[in-house]
Order: sequence, then structure tokens, then C-alpha cells
Amino acid sequence: MKGLILCNKCRKKMDGVCDCVKKKNPEKKGNQKCLIRIYHKGKYYEYRKDDRGFILTYDTAVAKLADIASQIKKGIFNPTDCTDEKTKQRKFEFQIGQWLEERKEELGNGELSPEHYTHIISYNKNYYSYFMGHDVRDIGLETLSNFKREALKYKAGTDERLRSKSKKNILNALHAFFTWLKKNGAIKEIPAFPEIKNSDKTRRLAISREVQAEALQKIPQEHIDPIMFMMKTGIRPGEAIAILVKSVDLNNRVLWVERARSGNTYVERVKNKEALPVPLNDIALSIAKKHCAGKFPNSFFFINPITQKPYTRWFLWDLWKRLSETDVTLYEATRHSFCSQIVPLTDKLTAQRLMRHKDGRSTDNYYHAYADHLLDVVQGLDNAVDFAKVKNEK
Ligand SMILES: [Zn+2]
Repeated sequence: MKGLILCNKCRKKMDGVCDCVKKKNPEKKGNQKCLIRIYHKGKYYEYRKDDRGFILTYDTAVAKLADIASQIKKGIFNPTDCTDEKTKQRKFEFQIGQWLEERKEELGNGELSPEHYTHIISYNKNYYSYFMGHDVRDIGLETLSNFKREALKYKAGTDERLRSKSKKNILNALHAFFTWLKKNGAIKEIPAFPEIKNSDKTRRLAISREVQAEALQKIPQEHIDPIMFMMKTGIRPGEAIAILVKSVDLNNRVLWVERARSGNTYVERVKNKEALPVPLNDIALSIAKKHCAGKFPNSFFFINPITQKPYTRWFLWDLWKRLSETDVTLYEATRHSFCSQIVPLTDKLTAQRLMRHKDGRSTDNYYHAYADHLLDVVQGLDNAVDFAKVKNEK
């Protein structure tokens, strides 16, 4: 490779300042702006800007030439990749702008909750500016760990410590962005992400069948079925809205949970490997019959009667939040409550199977949280010995 640093006005070789402007007008300072011209594999290429998008000066031009030389040495030099436009397009701020633009469209289509959208916009404004000027391909575990340590210490603009949960949310949204980058071919691999140890344990709340029934009365009639169905089967909201009619086996009274909505896509599970049949009790079965009637096997099981389209996760989540008059989320009101409610009804293995947990430790949590039962045990202890009597006899 041959590389030259040229004045960007007269295109003569320069080594700092070029006097070409001065010759015409002695009042003016010399020209410090330059460009690089290289000759590589039989072709000439010119570059005018540095990696941050600024017009090259002698120092940045020397650095860029050295960078190109090292890329050629490693065999990873791609001349068109180095053009000013391409360089700009690989900047974090450019890519995240594109990503947010797509999220905005999803928001318009009702595929994204306004709450989530507000969050990612504020994460970008308050925290992600840390990555300004970075080439997205250069952001790896080290940069991300520094980001976590330096930028995620305090709540933006305050001296209040950022909670673990917020840190997690900020990194999760960033991870979603990197997944998108990979999908679009902007990066080859998603970098490893630093872990956040959860110091503020969030407690999930479950509600009783009575509270569920009461809350359902406040939900508009036409949207009750999917929520009731989740309460009686323990399937997750993302699973419920993805069910196809063909996954419902009315004769055997089971539902095959074969797919789920994750982010913007429906994720299929390998049949008979990961999918497990979920039994349908009388209520779930009657809902199933109603929603399978007259539909094709590949139709969606639940259709939002208002939009005539499949439900979005956000729609049901929002509906529950606004109207249920409970303190719990839709997930807590349905799947989490289902898991808590079956604990006193059966043994741990059956419960694990009904909860569709691969790992029994997840099921254990529900047993640990089963406070009513714990109280029964200690109450029994208290009544076994009459302390007053023991004392008197001494
Ligand atoms: Zn010049």
C-alpha cells in the first residue's frame, strides 16, 4: 500500500500546513485540512474524514494511515468500509438513531408499549451517550464493563445510586440494540455483556382466585377470555397471544405450547422436544371450544375483536394495569398466581410439570413463598406445648 497526505485545496503533498491559500491572500492562515490518498491492489482511494466524522488534519491523517496500514497487515482492510459515509454509518449514535426510529414505528403499530418506548428514549439520552463516537464493531465486553462502572453508578443528573433493576433494564435494552445490529449485519457477534448482581430483590406478588374473579369483572367482556385462559392454564402472556388453533387438541383436552411472542417475532419451539401439553380444565376447555370454532388450523386462537388482529402483549398488559384495580401485573395475576395456587393442591413433581419448569429450583421458589402453609406448621408447634403449664410445674 502506498499512502499520501495531500492538502484538500491544492492536492499537493503536505506535512502540517499548506501555504496554497496564503499565496493568493497573504492575510489568510495556511490550510491545515487534508485528505488521504492510498493506492491499494491497483486502485486509488481517498478519505477526507476521521473516524469521528471530522475533516482530516495532518495528525489525524497520519493516525488514519497507520490504522489502514495495520488493517492491511491483518488482512482485514476493506477500502469501501473506510469511506466517510460508511464510517459515519458505523457510529453508535447513527445506529442507535436507526434502531430508535424502528421502535417508534412499532409504537405506532401498537407493537410496543409507550412506557417501554419512553424508557429506551431516556436510556439513550441519559446513559448511552457514553458510546458516542464509537464504532459499533469496537464495542466489546471491556467497553461495556467500563460503561456499567462509570455511567451506571448514579441516576442521570443526580447523586442517587442507580438501582440494580434499573441497571439491568438499561443493559437489557442495549443488548436488544446489539441483537438488532447483528441481525442487520452491522456486527459479526453480539459482545459479551457484564452481569448485574441483583441486590434489590423484587418480590413477585400472587393473587387469590377470589381477587382474580373480582378483577376480571372490571375487564371489558370481549377481552376476558385470553386473561381467564392464562389464569387456568398458567401459560405466559407471550405464549397465550401466539397460540394457533392447530395447537389446541379439544379431544384430549390439551394445549401444545409450541410458540411464543418474543420481542417482534413469534418463536417456534421444536415440537415434542420443548413443547409440553398443558391440560385444560372445564373453564379453559369451554374457552378453547369457543375460540377454535369455525377457524382454520393456522389461524390465531385469540383474536382481538376490536382490531380483528392477534393480541399484542402490551394491549393485554395495559388493559389489566388500567382496569383491574389490583396491585399486580398481568403476569403476576395470571401465570404467577396460577403457579402459587397449584402448590397447595399437589406434590412438587406434578407442580413442576404443570408450571413447565425445566429446573426444579424454579418450582422450589413457589414452595418457599407458600406462606400460608408455613404458618400452619408453626401454629401447630405453638399449640403442641402449653408453656404456662410447664412454667408452673417447675
Ligand atoms: Zn494546498
